Amino acid sequence: MIEKLVIANRGEIALRIQRACRALGIRTVALYSEADREAKYVKLADESVCIGPARAADSYLNIPAVISAAEVTDAQAIHPGYGFLSENADFAERVEQSGFIFIGPRAETIRLMGDKISAIKAMKKAGVPCVPGSDGPVTGRDKEIHRMAAHIGYPVLIKATAGGGGKGMRVVHTEAALLNAVVLTKSEAKAAFGNDTIYMEKYLDNPRHIEFQVLADTHGHAIHLGERDCSMQRRHQKVVEECPAPGLSEKLRHKMGERCAEAARKIGYRGAGTFEFLYQNGEFYFIEMNTRVQVEHPVTEMVTGVDIVREQLRIAAGEKMPYRQKDIQWRGHAVECRINAEDPKNFIPSPGRITTWHPPGGPGIRVDSHVYTNYFVPPYYDSMIAKLVAFGDTREMALARMRIALSEMIVDGIKTNIPLHQDIMNDAGFIRGGVNIHYLQKKLEL
Ligand code: ADP
Repeated sequence: MIEKLVIANRGEIALRIQRACRALGIRTVALYSEADREAKYVKLADESVCIGPARAADSYLNIPAVISAAEVTDAQAIHPGYGFLSENADFAERVEQSGFIFIGPRAETIRLMGDKISAIKAMKKAGVPCVPGSDGPVTGRDKEIHRMAAHIGYPVLIKATAGGGGKGMRVVHTEAALLNAVVLTKSEAKAAFGNDTIYMEKYLDNPRHIEFQVLADTHGHAIHLGERDCSMQRRHQKVVEECPAPGLSEKLRHKMGERCAEAARKIGYRGAGTFEFLYQNGEFYFIEMNTRVQVEHPVTEMVTGVDIVREQLRIAAGEKMPYRQKDIQWRGHAVECRINAEDPKNFIPSPGRITTWHPPGGPGIRVDSHVYTNYFVPPYYDSMIAKLVAFGDTREMALARMRIALSEMIVDGIKTNIPLHQDIMNDAGFIRGGVNIHYLQKKLEL
């Protein structure tokens, strides 16, 4: 087993990883920037190392600083969390070359799935359904590009193969707008990702976002933990997630879940990963794979009882997964609200000091958060300050508990999006379940 591990992240996920380590008797090293010096999770860790100034590029994204922190503390492993360096293949490679265990898949897997064109190719080969599209980069003459779009059928989506975070995409509704969109997306992709390769796929007009969680060990064994519905999005950012997806049949869950587990086996996947799909008219279309633990992993944990971060650590240590697919049961329903330090109306970030922090409690309530009364929310990073998760035997019970929890929760001193979540939890469409990815955006524009 790993004896000491470096947590190369901050905020709630740094605390989440720390908790999983403690349960396994692994000592922890918290890395922090100057802006996070006073954070409680830093003090709770067995050791801590300052890796640079507030700016993420100078600290949490500074690869040499992270690796030397692991060296000076004599740790054996590095957990990257989500965001920051978690899907950086060069980082994973450097970690392993320096003799440390990387908590995640092999660098080549991250590279394969990080490039959307190669990811789609690999998924098609593994029997995972993908969005109809160009099946490779869009190159060639204008005439060919026109022919390709006509063949796929308008509207089409022009996407950067290196794209991420909802950036590097453009919808094209008419032939007249096509070439201009190709040129624009190419130059944007070049500027944002240093890679101007683009591809084309069918634009789905009213899909839901449904993703499957998998776990794969290094002994050729892979299982799925079912799906999450993350259709409640604003500007491609998830706001509310739930497990299971409303209305999805058990048969379809097993069929798609097994396909994902099989794909994980075929690409030699290691650790926790998520296959993201758009789901429309009863069909699934793969869009991308996240090769890391996700923000919304707790809803799956609540419903399956599997501790995903603990399994990540055990798999990385070379252990055999203790579960077979038949051991995985889905019981009840879980919902997660991402609580952000932001204005609930205009979404402008609201950093500053939290003067009162009163988290909710009671049966079925889980709060994953690193904040506390007097905590200062720094302006430099993502604005998420907590994940509020509610579990119930039924979806109705989970939503009822979430409403109570939101009404109990007090966060003074800064603005939060709690009012938005209250609004969502009382929205008739959401309560019915199964809304598409445009639903929240449209509701906000009303
Ligand atoms: P990123 O890496 O930037 O998250 P994704 O490929 O996951 O890129 O797409 C981000 C979001 O864009 C999806 O969650 C979905 O809302 C939308 N999207 C992506 N592909 C399509 C498509 N073919 N049709 C309609 N919407 C899409």
